[in-house]
Amino acid sequence: MPHRTETDPHGFKRRGVLFVLSSPSGAGKSTIARKLLAADSQLEMSVSYTTRPPRPGEEDGRDYHFVDLEQFRAMVSNNEFLEWAHVFNHRYGTPKAHVDAILSSGRDVLFDIDWQGAQQLFQLAGGDVVRVFILPPSLKILRERLVNRRTDSPDVIDARMARAEAEVSHWDGYDYVLVNEDVEQCYESVHTILRAERLRRSRQTGLIGFIRGLNKR
Ligand code: 5GP
Repeated sequence: MPHRTETDPHGFKRRGVLFVLSSPSGAGKSTIARKLLAADSQLEMSVSYTTRPPRPGEEDGRDYHFVDLEQFRAMVSNNEFLEWAHVFNHRYGTPKAHVDAILSSGRDVLFDIDWQGAQQLFQLAGGDVVRVFILPPSLKILRERLVNRRTDSPDVIDARMARAEAEVSHWDGYDYVLVNEDVEQCYESVHTILRAERLRRSRQTGLIGFIRGLNKR
């Protein structure tokens, strides 16, 4: 992971944040990610590779890079992923090159990855990683949201619900856990976490120069 810097509101150089959002599907994570990206120009999304077929409305290169198993395997053997995992019988991976490019441009990276990805990323980049988990208010509400989304068949919804329960059991591998009762409030909390994490002393590599020069200002 490159040691990169960017400037905070005071103009100090700092290490960027690898900001992970995980949740069972349907808990509102995508909406929150979209709102964060629209509101915060210092943040850019990591676009994963996946072997799952696109859903209606999904765009190659924007939502995911859709590849076949052979291409995915080749990327794994070329060591092109920061992390990758099996999810719902498909493979998903975070490309190193894109994340490096975002970091080098001085921005923070937003990851929509599952608990396995969060764990692997944390092992790789430790203190640069902030892991946020979003819970639905209840599993009943989660099922209703999945049904209303109308993107998955009943079988797929059943599988997603089983997977959701398994996903929730990993809540203790996260730094922050929020319940998405109200999407606007939940988004505000997530953005507050990001803003606070940017100001962590350990990230503010330019702070030392500022402190040294304080008496000259
Ligand atoms: P979906 O198929 O609904 O878009 O995503 C299914 C799950 O895969 C979600 O929990 C999502 O966060 C996760 N996911 C998406 N991309 C990646 C990735 O690159 N790595 C890992 N570990 N999980 C991912």
